[in-house]
Amino acid sequence: MCLECTSHGSERDSSSADESVDTERDGSDWNRRSFLRATGVAAGSGTVLAAQGERVAASHTECSAADRWVEAANHSARNYGINWIVIHVTAGAYQGALSTLTSSSSGVSSHYLVKNYDWTEGPSAGHVDQLVHHDRAAWHARYIANHRSIGIEHEWFNDNGITDACYESSAELVRCIADMHDIPLEFYTSNTCIQNEPGGIIGHTHVPDGDCSSFYHGGRTCPYPDWDMDHFASLVRDGGGGGGGDKFQDGDQVVTTTALNGREQPCLNDDVVLTLPEGTQGEVMNGPEDCDGITWWGLHVPAYNEWVWCSENYLAHA
Ligand SMILES: [Zn+2]
Repeated sequence: MCLECTSHGSERDSSSADESVDTERDGSDWNRRSFLRATGVAAGSGTVLAAQGERVAASHTECSAADRWVEAANHSARNYGINWIVIHVTAGAYQGALSTLTSSSSGVSSHYLVKNYDWTEGPSAGHVDQLVHHDRAAWHARYIANHRSIGIEHEWFNDNGITDACYESSAELVRCIADMHDIPLEFYTSNTCIQNEPGGIIGHTHVPDGDCSSFYHGGRTCPYPDWDMDHFASLVRDGGGGGGGDKFQDGDQVVTTTALNGREQPCLNDDVVLTLPEGTQGEVMNGPEDCDGITWWGLHVPAYNEWVWCSENYLAHA
């Protein structure tokens, strides 16, 4: 079971998505777009578990770059909005890192774990696990950074380097997270008082221990020296795509031009949440994402109170 669903299930399940948004916005500077996306996932999962047995196995991941949801035990309610992505390396092989990051006794966690090597036990290089939902603070750095960031761990140890597969998966993941939470694609490579900056992508060693008077981190240099932030920045930016040529934008009202499958994630082999009759109206909340040669848009469909991904080919401006 998903811990978030059990420990916060009553709050999620008994309220509509709109009520969740209002609750979560209290005391936070998250914007509406981020919240609709985050609560869309959580509310959708709650509905699924309550209503339709066959959808219990549906994904809890929030980005299509994530391959699997594995629940972590350690996380907290956020006290700040998300402006940062903190890059880590595990200093240990994948399988051990996964158990550490998900067990309660370790006292740590992260939102994501990216597999780096093909030759260690577990999935192939580039595989991405999501361990904590974005709307919760994971325990990957000190308090001040945890509450303002998404933390990504990358398998690494003994100067074995970072593989292309790992960099590329992580770059795709960072693009998704940055887009979802309006995080600037700025890369910081020196000690930064993150509470005084607009946000971006930064290595663990460069976030403050607390009030910006200390960046000691117990002497650790995570994710350096092997992590190449300049190379990573170019991968993140090069894969950006999008630009001004997109058919739709966030907030656009769209209508289906045929009976159209709405899916859990933007690929043809993902679960169909529901089939939208021709003429169904929705609001663009996410996207575009490319998968299986199709451009996908994430929609909120008020008539069914669902969040789904649909092919652009059968959507028109309402
Ligand atoms: Zn770290």
